[in-house]
Amino acid sequence: MSRADRVAGRLAEPGLDALLVTDRINLRYLTGFTGTNGIAVVGPDTRRFFTDSRYVARARAELDGFDLQPAPQDLRSALADGWPEGALRLGFEDQHVTVRSHTRLRETLPGRIELVPAGGLVEAERAVKEPAELEAIRAAAALIDDVYAWLLGWGLTGRTEREVALAAEDQMRARGAAGASFPSIVAAAENGALPHATPRDVPIPGGTLVTLDLGAILDGYCSDCTRTWATGELPGDLEALYATVLEAQVTALDAVRPGERGRDVDAVARDLIAAAGHEEHFGHGLGHGVGLDIHEAPRLARGVDERLVAGNVVTVEPGIYVPDRGGARIEDLVVVTGDGRDVLSGTSKELTHVG
Ligand code: ZN
Ligand code: ZN
Repeated sequence: MSRADRVAGRLAEPGLDALLVTDRINLRYLTGFTGTNGIAVVGPDTRRFFTDSRYVARARAELDGFDLQPAPQDLRSALADGWPEGALRLGFEDQHVTVRSHTRLRETLPGRIELVPAGGLVEAERAVKEPAELEAIRAAAALIDDVYAWLLGWGLTGRTEREVALAAEDQMRARGAAGASFPSIVAAAENGALPHATPRDVPIPGGTLVTLDLGAILDGYCSDCTRTWATGELPGDLEALYATVLEAQVTALDAVRPGERGRDVDAVARDLIAAAGHEEHFGHGLGHGVGLDIHEAPRLARGVDERLVAGNVVTVEPGIYVPDRGGARIEDLVVVTGDGRDVLSGTSKELTHVG
């Protein structure tokens, strides 16, 4: 069954006749189209795809199972006709469609077509990876392992955070990546207390922790991996902080398996960090899905009742962030398998001293 067939199979429950797909990543997943202006309509017997003249040739080469219809640059205008007779419930991706775009759609579509908010249907399919997708993510993860090996040899002490971030992204591209899957994080000393720190033009000192959070896009798929390294001998509190994060990360990793709720895996790490007295220093969720997008379903976090299934790809990334002092995070990329997990990140997590 094709991806579009599987999404069409999800339309019956919300009572939809078709789904209007406008999100660029969802379009790529469903149709194969890699351009930036496209709209697809997917129903049990409908596979329409619209793009403008700039992308027609590309669409012809890339589309898989869709009926290509060239359209004006404002693709929505092509939706005025071509619909079957009678009333029709048309789902749209309400998390991606702007209010302005919705108004325009309403003006264009025949009045007998009802627009129904229906986000998350394609995302639910995307959350369970096919074997070829897993291979692509595995390769993107291996690429980041190579970048970490290179950085370890190159050294961090005395270089600025920005210099290291740029070098890491340069290495990703040199190894075949289209680019970084998110802005690289290099955060030393007190900057490491910010989970999403911006690299500074400040030299990395010796004797502290440096958090590096890197990911690459390879063949459209993202990777995501954090390591926290020591630039020389650490003060006792930072060494203890690292040991707690490592224990939380390894223990939570072992809890990843099909059937576990996102909240349960999160709690494994959170309880360990709280027991070490750092409850208020771990504010973010434990992990997120990764695929064509760097943040996608499913999530491992407080309040998430959704259960993991085989084929999910998630990160496991606990951290401790002590204001004005420093922080550590360790993040692996993991595939949920039939009976457990397969860790894709290969870079050592033992406290690593870097020059
Ligand atoms: Zn990350
Ligand atoms: Zn992450």
